[in-house]
Amino acid sequence: FKRLVNGLSKTRDNIVAGIDNIFSGFSAIDEDFYEEIEEILVMGDLGINATTSIIENLKEKVKELKIKEPAECKQLLINSIKEQMDVGDTAYEFENRRSVVLVIGVNGVGKTTSVGKLAGKLKDQGKKVVLAAADTFRAAAGEQLKEWAFRAGVDIVSAGEGADPAAVVYDAIAAAKARNADVLLCDTAGRLHNKKNLMEELRKIDRIIDKEFPDAYRETLVVLDGTTGQNALSQARQFKDVANITGIILTKLDGTAKGGIAVAIQSELGIPVKYIGVGESIDDLQKFNPDEFVNALFH
Ligand code: GDP
Repeated sequence: FKRLVNGLSKTRDNIVAGIDNIFSGFSAIDEDFYEEIEEILVMGDLGINATTSIIENLKEKVKELKIKEPAECKQLLINSIKEQMDVGDTAYEFENRRSVVLVIGVNGVGKTTSVGKLAGKLKDQGKKVVLAAADTFRAAAGEQLKEWAFRAGVDIVSAGEGADPAAVVYDAIAAAKARNADVLLCDTAGRLHNKKNLMEELRKIDRIIDKEFPDAYRETLVVLDGTTGQNALSQARQFKDVANITGIILTKLDGTAKGGIAVAIQSELGIPVKYIGVGESIDDLQKFNPDEFVNALFH
């Protein structure tokens, strides 16, 4: 929790400092008061839709509880943000079942790093992990993943640059079965600018998993760069169009002022942020808990 609090310091400065000023600066709860809160939340990357709902919810509660003092609204606002992030059950099923997890995301968002960190995390839990270096489009991606596999102490299946990603997944399934692995983690593509190709590539991979590993539990995680704010949200939307996304890994939350994007993603897409990246080393991946996140933000 302390790491989260530290990591979110810029986001906190960006959102909470302003909100505290409003709570102490206003003597009455009026339209201006709500508008100023709204502006800060939008500027804090929570997104227009989520912000509108949060403010509506806040107004209702203020009315219902007959609140008169602006300062008394703070806890209500915190609760409204938490409610807005509710996406139901976000169980980490793949940690308990034999699973294939596809990880997708555009270049530079921290996909390879996140796959490596996740492999390390699962390994620490005593799981047997096999990595598939199926992002064969980007030069050096395979080499980079090999380094992570070494660091995490897990096996990896890779092929040369330009190899067919589905063929890598095919080989990796064979390796995962042979080694009786618990989780097959596939670092896959992320060419969003060519959605048709991406869709075809993912379909091909899906078909291979369906055929070769039909009883595996499946997840598809999208990696998004938290420092890009609204751009991350739009990437998530585009990936949602082409794949059945079951969760998000939101990276680089350490040191960005745009951490509010986690609220926008959960609220606008209804997809759970499952992990957050809070640094570059292997143990800098944390499970995401919305309540804890909001508590850290308003700490
Ligand atoms: P990829 O192209 O999506 O596979 O991206 P990489 O995994 O190569 O990561 C790109 C850069 O982002 C690297 O320098 C990583 O060390 C860095 N990075 C990844 N995740 C995080 C994170 O959570 N925090 C920070 N500060 N840097 C990160």
